[in-house]
Amino acid sequence: MIRVRFAPSPTGMFHVGGARSALFNWALAEQSGGRFVLRIEDTDAARNRPEWTEGIISALAWIGVNGDSPFFEGPYFQSAYEEQHREAAAKLLADGRAYYCTCTRDDVKARTGSEHQGYDGFCRERGLTEGAVRFRTPDEGVTVVEDLVRGTVEFPNNAMEDFVIARGDGSPLFVLANVVDDVEMRISHVVRAEEHLSNTPKQQQLWEALGVTPPVWAHVPVIVNEKRQKLSKRRDKVALESYREEGYLAEAMVNYLMLLGWGTGEDREIMPWSEMMPRFKLEDVNPSSAFFDEKKLRAFNGEYIRALPLETFIARCEPWLEPDWDRETFAKVAELAQTRLAVLSEITANVDFLFLDEPVFDQASWDKAMKASAAEILTGYLARLETVDMDPESLKSALEEVGAEHGLKLGKAQAPVRVAITGRTVGLPLFESIEALGRERSADRIRAALA
Ligand code: GLU
Repeated sequence: MIRVRFAPSPTGMFHVGGARSALFNWALAEQSGGRFVLRIEDTDAARNRPEWTEGIISALAWIGVNGDSPFFEGPYFQSAYEEQHREAAAKLLADGRAYYCTCTRDDVKARTGSEHQGYDGFCRERGLTEGAVRFRTPDEGVTVVEDLVRGTVEFPNNAMEDFVIARGDGSPLFVLANVVDDVEMRISHVVRAEEHLSNTPKQQQLWEALGVTPPVWAHVPVIVNEKRQKLSKRRDKVALESYREEGYLAEAMVNYLMLLGWGTGEDREIMPWSEMMPRFKLEDVNPSSAFFDEKKLRAFNGEYIRALPLETFIARCEPWLEPDWDRETFAKVAELAQTRLAVLSEITANVDFLFLDEPVFDQASWDKAMKASAAEILTGYLARLETVDMDPESLKSALEEVGAEHGLKLGKAQAPVRVAITGRTVGLPLFESIEALGRERSADRIRAALA
């Protein structure tokens, strides 16, 4: 059975790169009827926070990776397995694969003359019975990592120092905990970010020393911004949560994230999870860095929004509507809004004019629209509004007539009316907006704009 895992450390907001790794693993588990193990690597007490653990679990649940599925296992917490980690260190010591070491950093530096030199093996044959525990690495040859994404990667063993796996007080280091957990959880495939590739030869050595066949490795490419820099939380918008809050749909996010380093193999990129999941193959993941193109993500999201059944769209807009905004009025314009949103949060600025006492005026829109013959247009249209039929066609003809009287095409004549009614030069179609707002309120707004 394929058993994969996703092993985040709760040291910050959950990153889109983490979400992409999780989804690749999720696809493997689901397509094979295997298991996806969620393991929270929470052993770094100084850097972990419970809210980040919660954030990871809730963000994963949002993109569909959760315990509702029979393929999901966990969450497990690494900190709960310290006993196993200690036992593994003891076994490696007993087997002669590890040894105690009492050297300080300064000792090593004094002997090797450099801070950057790896450990010199001083304690290897001293037969000490206490101290930090170092793993005895081979001095010659190469460690060959077979990686499904990157191919065969060779690491010369003479560049691998005897690394520490447990501290002097017996507490395990991350490299040991990570491997022991993977061994105990019978993980068959380790699929994770490229930054972990450099640790892989050490980990593979540990697997072998523990007498277990190493897993299949796959290191998925780094994600970069438009400047080809690795996405970073200081520079880029990387928290999955921010996308959720802005009104990205989970389905669009999942679709887009799956394409960071992988392709559907068709010219069709918009594909629901149910179709992507069985097609996903690690062998098809491209090792070169993947560009996180926010514009493309927005476009995807717009497509997903337009594909929603109207009722669903209306329900999904809820978080961005004020409680006192009349939902029937909203329902009247929802369909018009659905075609123009890239993210759900934009709904607010599209419809707020219907519910507020006066529109939120965008100064730039105002300056652009309220010049030349704006006052004449508004006055003329105000007069027509008293009698015109309140359907979009009639409302439009009336404005065309007023425009013609002043030598203006509809496009030009619309601008001041639109700003008076909605506060902005862009938004929902004008005449439907006037219809939804009603005769009285529309007239009041034009009067106010004229005042
Ligand atoms: N806990 C590690 C991290 O969040 C992941 C290690 C792994 O996937 O092996 O970077």
